[in-house]
Amino acid sequence: MLAEADGLRAGGPPGRRRALALYRGLRDALDAARTEDAARVQWVFENDARRDGPVGEMAAAAAKSAKEPEFRDLAELVRGQSLADLGRLDEAEAVFRALLAAARGTAARIERLSCLSLAKLFAHQRRGFEALALARIAATLARKAENPWDLCVARARICMALQVIDDGERLARAVEELDRALDDAPEERARPLRWMVLGFRVEAALEVDDLDGARRALEGLKGLTSSSAGTSGDPRLPLDLAAEIEARSGRHREALARIAGARAIPARVPASDLPLALLEARCLAESGDAEAGRRSMAAVLDLLDEEPDPDPFGTGQRIRWATEAGRLLQERLADPAGAQRAFDLAAGWVVRRIVEIDRAIADMPELAGVAAEDLRALTDHRNRFVREQAEILDRVAGLFSGDAPPPGLVHGGVGEDSYFHACAWCRRVKTAGDRWLPIGEFLPDDRRLRISHGICGDCRRRWTDRMAGT
Ligand SMILES: [Zn+2]
Repeated sequence: MLAEADGLRAGGPPGRRRALALYRGLRDALDAARTEDAARVQWVFENDARRDGPVGEMAAAAAKSAKEPEFRDLAELVRGQSLADLGRLDEAEAVFRALLAAARGTAARIERLSCLSLAKLFAHQRRGFEALALARIAATLARKAENPWDLCVARARICMALQVIDDGERLARAVEELDRALDDAPEERARPLRWMVLGFRVEAALEVDDLDGARRALEGLKGLTSSSAGTSGDPRLPLDLAAEIEARSGRHREALARIAGARAIPARVPASDLPLALLEARCLAESGDAEAGRRSMAAVLDLLDEEPDPDPFGTGQRIRWATEAGRLLQERLADPAGAQRAFDLAAGWVVRRIVEIDRAIADMPELAGVAAEDLRALTDHRNRFVREQAEILDRVAGLFSGDAPPPGLVHGGVGEDSYFHACAWCRRVKTAGDRWLPIGEFLPDDRRLRISHGICGDCRRRWTDRMAGT
């Protein structure tokens, strides 16, 4: 059977797909310490866009046993990618960072590949700043190496980062650049990225309320999905987008049916249940069933409040969904207690996000020297982030009704040793001897950061005075 797969490998796309299936099935018989098996495993890594369980197993075995260092690094990278796809984001990040640390400044292929993998991981966690900086570095490295394919992937990561940063104008330009660059790439390889381009087009059209344009782009996306077996794109995406289009058209029943259809497909990205739940609650509210909407949002907040280790969502993602849930609960679902809980969670994660960025810059020199072209985008992003934080805190404060924050408001228990206590209002952190230090002067050694936020004495007094004055 191995010989059969070897023969099929050289043929057309159907034969190559069959060869991939055979190698995956025979993975236990492949020993990456042997040259011919190493070549087979490497071929799977390069030709199969999936990073699922079987590929993860092949990668873990090859990372241990392969003789050739360059291939060992590639296997380790693929192992990290499959950890990321399984939602083990912290472990995946550690793998990529170790590879990058070893390859930094060498201009070897693994240096740009680990930048690309980190950029994708950070974009999924909605860590836009880190994602954009690493994607740009990868693009520069790919240009220097004259590798047009890696440059295409870097452009795709730049698009993902700009989407997170919520910069529609720059994203539209980057998507067009990516689309043009894909014309020169081999069709089969380019397909997942074309798929991504069409997804971005649907979202861009929705952003300007161009429902017809969104429907057209969605048809293209569906056409590409049906014409190609094994696209690596998230199979839920076309249904998610269709649900969003139905909801915007006021067809809530149809939207709810699409959401149920999307849920029936296993999630590729750990957080993809959250946007579905938010859309569902919006549809329920607009079709008059606020009670069901509130139940659905309470389930989302329970999920966000859990914070398992490893974290399947990431801080940026948590801020975004908690804030959106809070707005929905306050404005459309008439649930001030639920909204308070949502904004309170968001406020705690904003504090954590600030420390997370500082620490990422300290750990990764790549993030310190941001390209001039991105400084404006990142400054705009930071300003929006600050405005968003102000909105969150205003809403938390606006929801207080007594003269002190209700005890349930402050997230995380006092006295839990694994937590750092921070004031979400002035962003100071409580240190030994009950001193409050600005968060910029505080960089804990623990990789895993647990911040419980509350309100410090000064801010509490200011707040109480304000309430007394009104
Ligand atoms: Zn304070």
